[in-house]
Amino acid sequence: MTTITLEHITKRFAPEVGSQTQGVIAVNNLSLKVASGDVLAVLGPSGCGKSTLLRLAAGILEPDSGAVLYDNIDLRDIPIRDRGIGMVFQEGALIPHWEARRNIGFFLRLRQREQEIPERLARIASITGIGLDKLLDRRPPQLSGGERQRVGIARALARDLRVLLFDEPFANLDAHYRAEARIELKRLLNALPTTSIYVTHDQTEAVALSHRIAVMREGRLEQVGTYQQLYHSPVNIFVASFIGPNPINFFPGRVHNGRWYGENFGDFPLRRDLPDGTRVTAGIRPENVRLQPGGVYGVVDHITPLLAERSQLVSVHLAGERWSLVAPLDQPVEIGSTI
Ligand code: ATP
Repeated sequence: MTTITLEHITKRFAPEVGSQTQGVIAVNNLSLKVASGDVLAVLGPSGCGKSTLLRLAAGILEPDSGAVLYDNIDLRDIPIRDRGIGMVFQEGALIPHWEARRNIGFFLRLRQREQEIPERLARIASITGIGLDKLLDRRPPQLSGGERQRVGIARALARDLRVLLFDEPFANLDAHYRAEARIELKRLLNALPTTSIYVTHDQTEAVALSHRIAVMREGRLEQVGTYQQLYHSPVNIFVASFIGPNPINFFPGRVHNGRWYGENFGDFPLRRDLPDGTRVTAGIRPENVRLQPGGVYGVVDHITPLLAERSQLVSVHLAGERWSLVAPLDQPVEIGSTI
């Protein structure tokens, strides 16, 4: 297996000729390592450079500066046929007039190793538990979106792989199909561990499939870690607000005698090295705020049911600040009421 290293890579896109707009720095001095056999998910807002990063890691794009290394060898020095990259895109990128079997066997056929195709197909089908054999004689237009993605994944895996790169492979699937496809892919990645980068918008998918998650913003890497690390110890306000199922509460405040004080509440212990008067923003997750008798009172101004979690996200006005909290779905709460 292969370690992928990105060393200070930068990629700019020049403006179109005659355009008034400036060029874009899609990836900005970004360094990152994916250990052999690990799956790294890349999360970040639209346009932050995730797909560009993936295309750089695949060698489809060349960085303007910096380098992409596979096992410490610059990708530019590895002949294309020895790179062993499997890619799975949102659109599947299958050849439309070839039946699934031919699409899947494409890379092995290129190397005159057609005789290995049936065994590989049987292995992939047995790991995922899906009836891949039923799809083999159909062409992509005769397959559903989910089936096309299964064929696309089987094609990526039916070759000698060093790395697997995914660009939002399940983005076009409905929630139900997506959950199934995720489980199948997880089984495949467990059974056939391959160093992988997985670009997604979906935090649930990132948590389910990856060992670590990289959060990007405007071409830069903000933080890399497990979901727990990102959730409980975000390095900045961006990561704190980007990661997590519900919007986090932020409160401005200051340090006094090593403790945090906000406008309406405080006295929380802080790191010892912050001088008095330092501005510090407190972040409190809505699931850590509880609705209970005898607490402080606030007026409800918005309620969002979270049906899957059997709870509701309640927004409350309290002493000029707005709080979000998670309450059980069966706890009666009404807009305009004081709780
Ligand atoms: P999304 O989540 O919406 O797919 P992304 O995070 O994958 O976005 P990229 O597709 O990598 O983002 O794009 C990063 C930036 O680079 C964007 O501002 C985009 O407009 C720009 N960009 C991407 N490809 C090109 C290109 N070929 N030419 C010019 N600009 C590009």
